[in-house]
Amino acid sequence: MNNYDNRQEKTLVIVKPDGVQRSLIGEVIKRYEQCGLKLVALKMVIPSRELALKHYSVDPEWPLKTGTKSIEAYKAKGLIPPTEDPIEFAEKVRKNLLDFITSGPIVAMVWQGMNAIGIVRKITGSTEPLASNPGTIRGDYTIDSYSAADADSRAVRNIIHASSSVEEANKEIKLWFSEKEILNYRLVAEEILYDANLDGILE
Ligand code: ATP
Ligand code: MG
Repeated sequence: MNNYDNRQEKTLVIVKPDGVQRSLIGEVIKRYEQCGLKLVALKMVIPSRELALKHYSVDPEWPLKTGTKSIEAYKAKGLIPPTEDPIEFAEKVRKNLLDFITSGPIVAMVWQGMNAIGIVRKITGSTEPLASNPGTIRGDYTIDSYSAADADSRAVRNIIHASSSVEEANKEIKLWFSEKEILNYRLVAEEILYDANLDGILE
C-alpha cells in the first residue's frame, strides 16, 4: 500500500446554520461520503461566541486573504467595494460571521482520506455562491453574493465551512473535537480506493 499522497489527511467541515435550516445536512454528508472520504467525527452544537471567535482567528493571515479576495470579487464585477482596506473589510466580515455561526445549530464533522482538504474544497465550491460552479454544493444549493451580504451587514450564506490547508485543518479539528471523539476505523471501501492489488475479489 505505497502511495505518496496522504490518505490519513483530515479536514474540518461545518454545516453552517443556513445548511441546517434548509435541511441540507444529509445532502452535504452524502456528497463527501460518496466521493470516498471517511467520516471520522460528527457533532451537532450551537457554538458559543468564544469558540466561533477562536475558529475564525486560527489563521493570522485570514483577514488579509479574505479582505483581498472580497475586494477583488467586487472589482471583477465592475462594482465598487465598500472599502479598499482588506483588513478593515475582513474585520466587518468576521463580526458578521460570528453573528451567523452562533445563530443556531451547526453540524461539525471531520472527514478523512487521501487529499481530503483539497477534495472537500473542490466538492464544496468557491466561497461566493454567485461564482461557485454547478455541481459543487455551493453552486447547486446557494444563491448569495458578497454585495447582497455586505449591503445587509451579514455573512455570505454558503452552507459550509471547510478547512483550506493542513495547518488550518489541524488547528480547527483540535478546537472542535477532543482526540477521543475522532474515531480510528477501517472502511472496507478503502481497499478498492487505495490497495495496489485487487486480489481477493474473485472467488
Ligand atoms: P469557509 O472558511 O467558510 O470554508 P472560505 O474559506 O471559502 O469559506 P473565507 O474567505 O475563509 O471563505 O471566508 C469565511 C466565510 O466568511 C465565508 O464562507 C463566507 O461565509 C464569509 N465571507 C467571506 N467573504 C465575505 C464577504 N465579502 N461578505 C460576506 N461574507 C463573507
Ligand atoms: Mg476559510
